[in-house]
Amino acid sequence: MKKPIIYLTRKIPNEILVPYQDSFDFRMWEEEETPVPRDVLLEVVKEADGVLCLLTENIDRELLENAPHLKVVANMAVGYDNIDIEAAQEKDIIVTNTPDVLTETTADLAFSLLTAAARRIVEANDYIRAGKWDHWSPYLLAGSDIHGKKVGIVGMGRIGESIARRAKGFGMPIMYHNRSRKPGAEKDLGASYMGFDELLREADFVVSVIPLTTETKKLFNKDAFQKMKTSAIFINVSRGGVVDEKALYHALNENTIHAAGLDVFEEEPIDANHPLVKLDNVVCLPHIGSASVETRTKMLKLCMDNLLAVFSGESPITPVKNP
Ligand code: NAP
Repeated sequence: MKKPIIYLTRKIPNEILVPYQDSFDFRMWEEEETPVPRDVLLEVVKEADGVLCLLTENIDRELLENAPHLKVVANMAVGYDNIDIEAAQEKDIIVTNTPDVLTETTADLAFSLLTAAARRIVEANDYIRAGKWDHWSPYLLAGSDIHGKKVGIVGMGRIGESIARRAKGFGMPIMYHNRSRKPGAEKDLGASYMGFDELLREADFVVSVIPLTTETKKLFNKDAFQKMKTSAIFINVSRGGVVDEKALYHALNENTIHAAGLDVFEEEPIDANHPLVKLDNVVCLPHIGSASVETRTKMLKLCMDNLLAVFSGESPITPVKNP
């Protein structure tokens, strides 16, 4: 029997593919670092039965309507704002993502970013490298405390709760905002539920882990930054699109807020000329929230297992459900 054609939009290590080779006919964009060009992707999906894609691919209506055999799109990410879910549903194309396997790793990174921004770790490292360390001084590179400070988590889902567990270990009172309350987190972590504006006013650290949707686009705007404390530190590990970056730049440059740690940006990738990179009170990372070797491997395997389940006539393991 003819094996389903699976198009992989990036070069994937052979050892991940080997266990699935009897089930699938793999076609692959052979570059490790460069995304597949749009025109190539539009051409190859015409014959694909399944696609394994990354968040660098825009799986929009045009693409889905040009893919007559496509049954499943396995996205190597938990966020799926790069995919037109409505168009996929209309065409009966299953979309899967990679929840859970990346939760703890992303929470580790979020907390590292929080620590780095508060204690000026990157700036301090640059200080030594620039040969500037001559003496110990009382306020040399003095930052903000973390222990005992209030953390406000916007998007208290899987990753949000995992960040909250780390915060609890640091003795931080936890506040959160969602559309719905989480009694489990309130009981186990002592987390307090709050409206968005109240959280902004109260938190010393505002951490964004909210998915990018039409509702959350530019949620963190000028108005939001003005409500935060002047000592507040803003951390974003969700998607750049939830922030109005111009407003964030002005808030940081004019000391409306104190500092920021950012793993994600409105238009990725950014370079050294990006205005936010030029500010000393910002730590910028190249979207590495889930980037541990162990977790990236688990994400790829979960994509493969989702594809296998669908083509074996079973339910996908982690389907994206249209809210
Ligand atoms: P999740 O479990 O679905 O959590 C999302 C939370 O956001 C939910 O608790 C949800 O609660 C809340 N939420 C959604 N829409 C909201 C709205 N309009 N207003 C208020 N709260 C809202 O997702 P997760 O696994 O924790 O992942 C969260 C996000 O992190 C992903 O979507 C992705 O964008 C990002 N992420 C980034 C990286 C990285 O590399 N930086 C890695 C992994 C994930 P309610 O439904 O009750 O509102």
